[in-house]
Amino acid sequence: MSEKERQREVMARVKENIEREREVQVGSLERQSRWGEWRELVLKTDMSWHTLFNYGESLIGFMLSAVYGTLLTPSLVAKWSEEEDGKCKLCEDKIGTIPHILAGCSVALSQGRYRWRHDKVLRQISEQVAFHCNRRVNSSKNKMDRRMHGVEFIPAGKRRPVAESRKGHQDFGVLNGARDWIVMSDLEGQLKFPSEITETRLRPDLVIYSRSAKTVLWWELTVPVEERIAESHEYKLDRYNLLEAEIQGKGWRCHNFAVEVGARGVVAQSLEKAARRVGFKGRYLKKLVRDSGKEAAHCSRWIYLLSRKKEWEFREVGA
Ligand SMILES: [Zn+2]
Repeated sequence: MSEKERQREVMARVKENIEREREVQVGSLERQSRWGEWRELVLKTDMSWHTLFNYGESLIGFMLSAVYGTLLTPSLVAKWSEEEDGKCKLCEDKIGTIPHILAGCSVALSQGRYRWRHDKVLRQISEQVAFHCNRRVNSSKNKMDRRMHGVEFIPAGKRRPVAESRKGHQDFGVLNGARDWIVMSDLEGQLKFPSEITETRLRPDLVIYSRSAKTVLWWELTVPVEERIAESHEYKLDRYNLLEAEIQGKGWRCHNFAVEVGARGVVAQSLEKAARRVGFKGRYLKKLVRDSGKEAAHCSRWIYLLSRKKEWEFREVGA
């Protein structure tokens, strides 16, 4: 069988599986995930053939089952098997539903399973943001214009010449007007908030700042189950409100972003919005959204597969 034929066969099989999942979904929609409640908050997952092929059959299968509530969790199995008590096999206390297993188990939390996933997703995001800042925004090719923070003065009745916007005058949103952006991330809990801005023990996941523009922004990342995206968002914004006010009081511009990537791999709109505010667009934006969603799904799949195993010894599994 040629490589092309093999690809075609795999795609046909994936498509068939998706269609089967869709048939099952109608009966189980509300069963475990209540996705109707959160679908407005998330981005449409790109289900093009390219994405399907890039994700692979097992990851797509996991995502669909997790979204439509058909994962074989203790809670679901208990509906037809008397030997199954429905409880989570880690804490042996709470009912083993999808939200519990993917993000709500205290034992999984204390063993660092969720932290492992959070940091893997953060690594994807921070590497792409660092690349964006260092190679694009800080580049000498970035012909800094006087536009700051998206405000541009154009005489009435005039439009900005097209040629100008093409010659390196890219719009980097709140990063416009400076080329000395420093990106720091809290991977492995290493971040120390820049003391030249303020002294704080808070450690946002990703901090970007410029001395020349006296501007700082941060992204606080959460990987909640999709049902809790809205709640996590408000909670995280709130948590950093005081810091924001304090820094503004010292004469710095400050932007506080909370971004969420759903544990099932469905990315919240908040990530796309935050990325657009710093000038991500086109293929860079697509890649950021796709890679962070894929990483979350990949890690969650392992968290699910190992949720019947007491020890969390495969820290680097699938790394
Ligand atoms: Zn549990």
